[in-house]
Amino acid sequence: MADRDYYEVLGVQRSASKEDIKKAYRKLAIQFHPDKNKGDKAAEEKFKEATEAYEVLSDDQKRQAYDQFGKAGVSGNGGGPGFGYKAYTDFSDIFGDIGDIFSEFFGGNAGAGFAGGGRGRGVNRRGSDLRYNVEISLEDAATGKEIKIEIPRQESCDECGGSGAKKGTQASVCPLCQGAGQVRRTQGFFSVTTTCPQCSGQGRVIAQPCGSCGGSGLTEKKRTLNIKIPAGVESGSRLKISGEGEAGPHGGARGDLFVVTHIKKHAVFEREGNDLILEAPVPVTIAMLGGEIDVPTIDGKNVKMKIPAGTESGQIFRLKEKGMPYMGGYGKGDQHVLIQVKIPGKMSKKARSLVEELGKELTESSYGESVFSRMRSGFR
Ligand SMILES: [Zn+2]
Ligand SMILES: [Zn+2]
Repeated sequence: MADRDYYEVLGVQRSASKEDIKKAYRKLAIQFHPDKNKGDKAAEEKFKEATEAYEVLSDDQKRQAYDQFGKAGVSGNGGGPGFGYKAYTDFSDIFGDIGDIFSEFFGGNAGAGFAGGGRGRGVNRRGSDLRYNVEISLEDAATGKEIKIEIPRQESCDECGGSGAKKGTQASVCPLCQGAGQVRRTQGFFSVTTTCPQCSGQGRVIAQPCGSCGGSGLTEKKRTLNIKIPAGVESGSRLKISGEGEAGPHGGARGDLFVVTHIKKHAVFEREGNDLILEAPVPVTIAMLGGEIDVPTIDGKNVKMKIPAGTESGQIFRLKEKGMPYMGGYGKGDQHVLIQVKIPGKMSKKARSLVEELGKELTESSYGESVFSRMRSGFR
């Protein structure tokens, strides 16, 4: 490939805008595209040359390095073809609806120096995600709650503003990888990508590191956050708080914070999905005669519940929509009330004689025809 100046290759001024560079490349790429010039070696070379030039000049950091150091500032390690993923990932942007012919072309050549990848590295790496466990009561889970949490996390260093470079100095784009954080070697049909040895994948080099953070651009700080726990959360619910994780090194985006809720065991309520189950003791006389009992609900208010005459232990009554709310939705589950008929353990003399009288009055048939006879016959 002729060693021409990139600006010359694209036919633009050194002061050309990004838009001009894009337009110039688009024109050349369409003109020399290998699909249109099958078997034309010269066209293929021109296409590669234009793509290489575009890859460098369309990237602010690479363009800066190129302006400063020339091709030495941007060529790949070991003098490989030096053009990589950047231009290709931008194709859809440049060519819009004709992008398809390109993906076909590059798809077929993926082994020969057109390898993609290299994303997620380089200068603006994203910070780590954080996990915070929080224990809340069932009542709070029912209503939702705003909580304050204190988390130690990596924040951008105040001294250097996160750059990692000593005050008054600047980090510069790594001359070896031009900021990509990775270098690619092409041997025959294979291309191997490795972490840049000069910058350890940072994409940048710091001549004089910041004394406060040692060049990482990060310091650990305690941060207090107000977190809104939505109504209806369950044990193990994971709430994503975007952008509240650790700061990214050197100005990279923050990671996310995941708040994981754990619900404390409740004294009287058991939770089953969005339904609640409550065991309610009922005096034997109410169970026999029917009546009303007071039943607690999760919102703290008692409700009156009708007990029909002849209610037995183990029967379950349903209080509609007195359960847990559906998280992020509408409506609530139900509350199930499991009846436990209570027999008095202590009785006054009078109570005793009344029950004795009752005992004489009630016959086996008062309890329903078959109950006792079935037992006597051995449940046959
Ligand atoms: Zn610092
Ligand atoms: Zn590097």
